[in-house]
Amino acid sequence: MSLEQEIQKRRTFGIISHPDAGKTTLTEKLLLFGGAIQKAGAVKSSKIKDHARSDWMEIEKQRGISVATSVMGFNYKDVKINLLDTPGHQDFAEDTYRTLTAVDSVIMVIDCVKGVEIQTEKLMEVCRMRNTPVICFINKLDREGRDPFELLDEIEEKLNIKVRPLSWPINMGKAFKGVYSLYEKSLHLFTPSKTTVEEGIEIKDINDTLLDDYVGENNAKQLRADIELIEGVYPDFDIEDYLEGKVAPVFFGSAVNNFGVKELLDTFIRVAPPPIPRETTARIIEPNENKFSGFIFKIHANMDPKHRNRIAFLRICSGKFERGSNYYHVRFDKSLRFSNATAFMAQDRETVDEAWPGDIVGIYDTGNLKIGDTLTEGEKVLYTGIPSFSPEIFKEVVNMDAMKTKQLEKGLSQLMEEGVAQLFTYELGKKKVVGVVGALQFEVIQFRLKNEYNATAQFVPQNIYKACWISSKDPKKLAEFIESKQRHIARDKDGKLVFMAESRAWLQMVQDNFPEIHFHFTSEFK
Ligand code: GDP
Repeated sequence: MSLEQEIQKRRTFGIISHPDAGKTTLTEKLLLFGGAIQKAGAVKSSKIKDHARSDWMEIEKQRGISVATSVMGFNYKDVKINLLDTPGHQDFAEDTYRTLTAVDSVIMVIDCVKGVEIQTEKLMEVCRMRNTPVICFINKLDREGRDPFELLDEIEEKLNIKVRPLSWPINMGKAFKGVYSLYEKSLHLFTPSKTTVEEGIEIKDINDTLLDDYVGENNAKQLRADIELIEGVYPDFDIEDYLEGKVAPVFFGSAVNNFGVKELLDTFIRVAPPPIPRETTARIIEPNENKFSGFIFKIHANMDPKHRNRIAFLRICSGKFERGSNYYHVRFDKSLRFSNATAFMAQDRETVDEAWPGDIVGIYDTGNLKIGDTLTEGEKVLYTGIPSFSPEIFKEVVNMDAMKTKQLEKGLSQLMEEGVAQLFTYELGKKKVVGVVGALQFEVIQFRLKNEYNATAQFVPQNIYKACWISSKDPKKLAEFIESKQRHIARDKDGKLVFMAESRAWLQMVQDNFPEIHFHFTSEFK
């Protein structure tokens, strides 16, 4: 097959949701369709339950599981699907944000009872940064949920994206009858079942009395009224708008009952984009360029503390990746040999000889690779769009064992490269402050420092509200600002300047007082 054909048959995406909306369940059903797993219950949830908040072993166990489910590759109707797992637990949100830089589109799961939740909003913001195309799946229709029109309005309002229903539910909860596909003009009747999928009943004309026979007169009447309203209010589905991230097609269903999932998947493979062109520091690289290129978006430490082997996840962006070849590591400015690359299929990992744009390859690494690293066949470019986000909780790292300073530094630096947290080093006094998205991460860091590096650290809470990356068109103004706020200036892992704001109000005041300084909440800005 040619490079172009390999590209056209690939879909690389992620499923995002607020915890408990049904991401794991949907993932499992999709894998069933791909024949990648045989029975329900085979996908281990990679999420960490709330009750496990301080249970180390649970976290460690989850870490093991999540390597296996990090990338799930499967085939469905001639399409090679790469599904990238995104941790649902909000304490690991940063990991999810980064994974979203490696996908070409997403499916967003929304609970019809709860509607748009806080984590959905945050994830959507990340999608919007790159105009990632989004398909919505409104789940749990077998429950008494909210009015579907109300849900659509809420999505438009809170997620700031236009929607276009492509299917429509007939009732909900106990009275749930099924969904009508506006796309295929067919009716799917709901029978609670976990494995089988009924074929749809074709209803070419919504006024056909067949509809009344299947769903009852009142339901048919309501559906006709709803459809009329939808066709009147929402413009026709425009695939270009979807691909530009302007409109999200919406499906209704019930993942646990495997209802509405096949329609979702069939539409997904038809409309979702194959590997898209990607931006680098120098130019946009097209997937069908013959020369290989890709970037590392995730690093996963191995479970065995005696071997510091790590798996780096490489997203292939252009050309063909061949195992055993030498590729140019842009940050090191040297060529590296990749003899042990692994492909991810749904249940196991296997050695891969070649991989194509959209594929994710696992590379064993002994501590050299870093998130954001770019590999090419020699071109000096770096893939962009893998930003760090300002953490929410900050603590100073205090070394509790003077004999193990080196171990602590090494451990910290490796954990930061894995993206577990962010390290900020103050300009004055070189104080080291770790910032995380969720409190759980401190416990993970402390535990892993001890367990893997034999270093003992304590974390002292800091009164910091946000880390803001700073820039200015005027270097003199920037220097003046740094001078006047010296005690609050730090550098991130890449040496970028960061202003550590103590409170929202104070940040606002500083922003007002220094209008020439730009304050950014992510590490990447133009
Ligand atoms: P995640 O946290 O988003 O991965 O959510 P899960 O897939 O683990 O689902 C959370 C809970 O919702 C589980 O108990 C599921 O069985 C349940 N669930 C998932 N889909 C449905 C559905 O369609 N209807 C109902 N009633 N429950 C569902």
